[in-house]
Amino acid sequence: MTYIGRFAPSPTGPLHAGSLVAALASWLDARAHGGTWLVRIENVDTPRCVPDADTGILAQLAALGMAPDAPPTWQSRRGDRYEAALAQLRRGGWAYPCVCSRSDIAAALARAGVPQVAHVERVYPGTCRPPTMASTDVAPAVPWRRTPAWRLRTRTPAGEDIVIAWHDRLLGPQRQDVTQAVGDFVLKRADGLWAYQLAVVVDDAAQGITDVVRGEDLADNTARQIHLQRTLGLPTPRYLHTPL
Ligand code: GLU
Repeated sequence: MTYIGRFAPSPTGPLHAGSLVAALASWLDARAHGGTWLVRIENVDTPRCVPDADTGILAQLAALGMAPDAPPTWQSRRGDRYEAALAQLRRGGWAYPCVCSRSDIAAALARAGVPQVAHVERVYPGTCRPPTMASTDVAPAVPWRRTPAWRLRTRTPAGEDIVIAWHDRLLGPQRQDVTQAVGDFVLKRADGLWAYQLAVVVDDAAQGITDVVRGEDLADNTARQIHLQRTLGLPTPRYLHTPL
């Protein structure tokens, strides 16, 4: 069986006990399968990145005997790949521009009577979502009132919810109604930064990742990533989420 795994730290500081568990789990799983193990530095969220944390992380891994089987990659060098994926989603009508500010979203949700729950990410009310899946890879008819973010539709072309069922090698069967739980999520922020969801899906596919082994705190992202893989026509890897 082909096995390509990866550890994909965000360079926001040194690896802590939790991230080392994820690193060790992905390394051990790759070794146990006679597979390849890669390291990808996920530095797209530049304001959260700490200078030199990437070299520190690679040194920590090397000190523990976890050497990747190929040179590490940096997401900051892969913007053209993310742009190409976004263009594909725009052509297919899956991605659309959103000019809502945080307060626009809060006001729209308040008007719709949706209560605000502390620390819970709010579901985008769909204010900017075009009524049809026509290509959005065209110049806007009226200039945008501000630089847009780009969101991914979480409805089927027939308007149904996107319900993703997937299997986790440790947690067992999983299921999420992405439309209700998350809503149309951001692929590229208005400030030009790429969202984790898009970058991780494009890179896992580009690197031929067959097995994602990562911390359980990320399990909740998996359904979104599978929806994105399907809209981009990319394969879905196997998943294993480790206890924190
Ligand atoms: N870069 C993410 C993090 O450090 C992990 C991404 C992943 O493993 O999918 O939280």
